[in-house]
Amino acid sequence: MPQTILLLQYDASKAAIVQELLATFNDGSFVIEWIRSCAGSLDRLNDRTKNVIAAVFIDLVLPDAKELEAFDRIFQASPHTPILVLSSPEREDIAEQAVQRGAQDYVLDDRLDSHLLSKALRNMLERAANAEALFIEKERAQVTLNSIGDAVISTDIAGNVTYLNQVAEVMTGWRGAEALGRPFSDVFRIIDRANPEHAVDPMAMAMRQNKTVGLTAGCSLIRRDGFESAIEDSAAPIHDRRGEVTGAVMVFHDVTEARAMTQRMSYLAHHDYLTELPNRLLLNDRLSQAIAAVRRHQQRLAVLFVDVDRFKHINDSLGHTIGDQLLLSIAGRLVANVRKTDTVSRQGGDEFVILLSKVAQAEDAALSANKILAALSNPYRVMEHDLQITVSMGIGIYPDDGTDAETLVKNADTAMLHAKDNGRNNFQFFKSDMNEHALERQSLESGLRYALGRREFELHYQPKMDLETEAIVGAEALIRWRQPGQGIVLPEKFIPIAEQCGYIVPIGRWVLREACRQAQRWLDADLAPIPVAINISAVELRSKDFVPGVRAVLQETGLDARYLEFELTETALMQDPASTIAVLRALKDMGAQLTLDDFGTGYSSLSYLKRFPIDALKIDKSFVRGLCTNAGDANIVSAVVNMGKSFGLRVIAEGVETREQLLALRAQHCAEGQGYYFQEPVAANEFAQFLESNSATTAAA
Ligand code: C2E
Ligand code: CA
Ligand code: CA
Repeated sequence: MPQTILLLQYDASKAAIVQELLATFNDGSFVIEWIRSCAGSLDRLNDRTKNVIAAVFIDLVLPDAKELEAFDRIFQASPHTPILVLSSPEREDIAEQAVQRGAQDYVLDDRLDSHLLSKALRNMLERAANAEALFIEKERAQVTLNSIGDAVISTDIAGNVTYLNQVAEVMTGWRGAEALGRPFSDVFRIIDRANPEHAVDPMAMAMRQNKTVGLTAGCSLIRRDGFESAIEDSAAPIHDRRGEVTGAVMVFHDVTEARAMTQRMSYLAHHDYLTELPNRLLLNDRLSQAIAAVRRHQQRLAVLFVDVDRFKHINDSLGHTIGDQLLLSIAGRLVANVRKTDTVSRQGGDEFVILLSKVAQAEDAALSANKILAALSNPYRVMEHDLQITVSMGIGIYPDDGTDAETLVKNADTAMLHAKDNGRNNFQFFKSDMNEHALERQSLESGLRYALGRREFELHYQPKMDLETEAIVGAEALIRWRQPGQGIVLPEKFIPIAEQCGYIVPIGRWVLREACRQAQRWLDADLAPIPVAINISAVELRSKDFVPGVRAVLQETGLDARYLEFELTETALMQDPASTIAVLRALKDMGAQLTLDDFGTGYSSLSYLKRFPIDALKIDKSFVRGLCTNAGDANIVSAVVNMGKSFGLRVIAEGVETREQLLALRAQHCAEGQGYYFQEPVAANEFAQFLESNSATTAAA
């Protein structure tokens, strides 16, 4: 589309000349609109319904306005439209003034020719197009710079600010207009928190080194009002066309949130979520540092491994919320009872590890341990519950019990387990032979997990004898664990572990089924009809499924309950007498027999035990052992025998090893006995042979 050129010329003959000259080189790329008044021209320029005027030719001799006044009005109406002034030679000074006020150029009308006019017009249009393109380019840069999330500041070579985008305005607190021309360091104030003395000026560096430079990590920007934000940035030099540095530009953004997030993540990675105490990771760090520090000064430090006694019980019975609150209180007391320089960490669960960073001697650690034991044993008030706890502690000393963090903590842990074995609520120092014990325990524990599935258990049987006739009156089933490559493991070794790990319940169920099946087989084979006794531990007795399990096994094996006997210890009965009585009643109602095992080693209060529906007492083998050599033991045996009789209970002596013991028991009128003197526990088939030959000899007698 052709461009429109406005010709403002009052003199009609002059206008005709100009139009004629323009026509000589018009290839259709423009049209001329001739207007004779200033007012008419202003109307045309402002008329948005018509074509935009691309250029104005103006002769300032006009009827309705003074010369320069006319120019100003036209120029203001359209400041971006190029204007060429046509002037007579005698008014050249006015034409010059018009150029100063914004006209692009002027030509004198006495020299007007088509060549001159065409050149002037082409120049005007080209420059206008360039200006437009530049404007658009600048506009685009401006919009871009204001819409990116990064802040941008540029400076000249002297380091004075030449530009700020909107984000930079917000972040520095400086308006662009105020900042322009000021030294960069006034507007952009940063400090390196890690190294506050060190002044950083990335812009100067970028210009000096003539390359892009990044800011040191951890820098903060100080806003004009003093507010501080973490930033990350880079500065780059600006070059002119010849490649010379003329300034620099800096792009930066706020990383306060990102940095806070990183810090939080690192905090979380090093602290326990519940108590906010250092966790295992951070403890290891601190411990390693502390070791390095004391090594140099040839000092000691101590690691205390603290484990809450029976915490699981609290959690299970009162719930996790209360458990968590209790752990928080414990953590608080631990922190309150060590020095500021010590570290209390939570390893997870109810385990805490304390690093005492400086102890002169092992006794100092013992003092701290005692203080902690005392502090933790005071009652806790947790959500309307009054709770009391104890803890078991193990102590490892550097360098005696280990020279690295891991070994020290591990050995303190081992010592803690010993404190548990030692009756809880105490502390133990690590001793080097503990490791062996701990290792063995651990291997037993992991072996036990698979023992049932791998059919590694078997039952041995030991007869109970009538001491008068030496006839077999019963059998006790005793479990054996045949560990591949290890031989037989005796129950004393693994039953306590099985009890602690809960494996005892399925193991006990297996024993019950196996013993019942065996007893029924002997009955089926017409061997002497004797009851089989099995040992029940406290954990089994408390398990809800115990009574239904017994009922199910009896049904499954077809054994009459009168051939089944249970051996229980006093301690097992006393743990929860009320519910135990109910369990025992249920067993009695089925027709089974109940024997009190290891009698004499526990409460031994028969008047109290009267409440339990038991049939027999088993005198503990420790008294039988001393029967012929120790008057005290002999007295106890005689007392138990008499007590049993007066309560109508059968009495059995266990651990009978010699003929003298047998005779002494007979003299006391103890009816039954069991022990190596008669027979060691043996496998089922061997026991069957023994049963057979015994019934033959006793029948013959
Ligand atoms: P307990 O119930 O007191 O069993 C008697 C223990 O004395 C058995 O040891 C037996 O072998 C041993 N013994 C028998 N005669 C003599 C003797 O003349 N002299 C000496 N010094 N000892 C004799 P064992 O078989 O090692 O069992 C140890 C304990 O393990 C048992 O003590 C019992 O408490 C427990 N136990 C055994 N089997 C089972 C089981 O199936 N379940 C449960 N829960 N505990 C069991
Ligand atoms: Ca027993
Ligand atoms: Ca016993």
